[in-house]
Amino acid sequence: NVRTRFAPSPTGYLHIGGARTALFSWLYARKMGGTFILRIEDTDRERSTQASVDAILEGMAWLDLGHDEGPFYQTQRFDRYAEVIQQLVASGHAYRCYCSKEELEQMREEQMARKENPRYNGLWRDRQDETPPAGIEPVIRFRNPQTGVVEINDVVRGKIIISNAELDDLIIARSDGTPTYNLTVVVDDIDMQVTHVIRGDDHISNTPRQINIMRALGFEPPKFAHLPMILGSDGQRLSKRHGAVSVMQYRDDGFLPQALLNYLVRLGWSNGDQEIFSREEMIELFSLEAINRAPSAFNADKLLWLNQHYIKTLPVEVLEAQLQWHLQAQQLDVSQGPALAAVINAQRERAKTLVEMVAISRYFYEEFAEFDPVAVQKQFKADTADNLLVVHDELAALTAWQGEAIHAAIQTACETLGLKLGKVGPPLRVAVTGSASSPSLEITLELIGRERVLQRIQRAIG
Ligand code: GLU
Repeated sequence: NVRTRFAPSPTGYLHIGGARTALFSWLYARKMGGTFILRIEDTDRERSTQASVDAILEGMAWLDLGHDEGPFYQTQRFDRYAEVIQQLVASGHAYRCYCSKEELEQMREEQMARKENPRYNGLWRDRQDETPPAGIEPVIRFRNPQTGVVEINDVVRGKIIISNAELDDLIIARSDGTPTYNLTVVVDDIDMQVTHVIRGDDHISNTPRQINIMRALGFEPPKFAHLPMILGSDGQRLSKRHGAVSVMQYRDDGFLPQALLNYLVRLGWSNGDQEIFSREEMIELFSLEAINRAPSAFNADKLLWLNQHYIKTLPVEVLEAQLQWHLQAQQLDVSQGPALAAVINAQRERAKTLVEMVAISRYFYEEFAEFDPVAVQKQFKADTADNLLVVHDELAALTAWQGEAIHAAIQTACETLGLKLGKVGPPLRVAVTGSASSPSLEITLELIGRERVLQRIQRAIG
């Protein structure tokens, strides 16, 4: 039974890289009919915040990456970590180290002077019989094997071999007794019976250490899949400098979770040259083996393209709630406008984001402050007021306020005036929307509603 986990540290919002890790872990669990675990790695109490926990949960919920177990919080498992640390000490796999800051500093300086990489030299490794110095609270270090190698058969990166001689005895408990990252991850991955660790390759240097601790505890390591970095357009690791990296910022900017997920699944994974993946297809086609080794570059244009695709093609019911959210975010009163489905159908070909859709739909919900001056300049001529009056009266006479009837009324007005629709339509559009572009006239008028249309034409006539 496959068990994967997403294990964010709550020190900020859910970012693009984290969301991709979460997606791949979730996908693999779903694909294999396995279990997806959410674990909050909040042991760094200085940097972890409840706000970040909430932001991560919100991001996961928005992307609809539901977990089967958890969320587990590492801060609620300190007793368990203490138990394992004691077990390691008792079995001789860990030992107390009483090095003072000064000693460690001196060790470091000497190593630097010899042009060696600074590392703990094992001073207390074999000093367990000595009386410890007074006044120093010891840290606990893992007794890493000094010979042999650690072999990782990473599903993405292939075989990685690290010599134990390169690894020093890392601290597993600080002098205040709190466990460190590499210890908590191992204990949790064991206790939660994780079978596949899917995470960013920034953790690859921790992996051999974790494997050694795991073996010291009598367990064989899970499979590892280290995901390649995500780069910005300039080839540097993706960061805020490259624009939005927070998942919720993408929501706020009018992106659909479907588009972001589709975008993320292609960041480092491919299935031939297929670009569009529904959730079901992702689950069906996903495999760890098809993850690319090379870093992938974040491409904002492609994300926008996908977003447009999903705005055009998702079932209207799926878009309704999201459009409503954005209308409300812009303080627009949804009850003062047409049905959401009608707005979506009218505007879905015309907007790349939901923020854009709201921007070009405001006149359905509220009066516009002023006419677009460029449109007025272009469309309002000497005879416009007279022409609009004829249109107004035809529209006012309608009994049914509905597209076809509206269209017929405008035609009739054109015939009365002896003018083509191309002369009458554009100023009418400016009159009722304040701008030069909108969906087809009859749909626009239908959705704005009779009262508002008649008032707005009157306002334009002046
Ligand atoms: N908590 C770590 C992080 O946020 C992830 C640890 C792991 O996946 O093993 O980077």
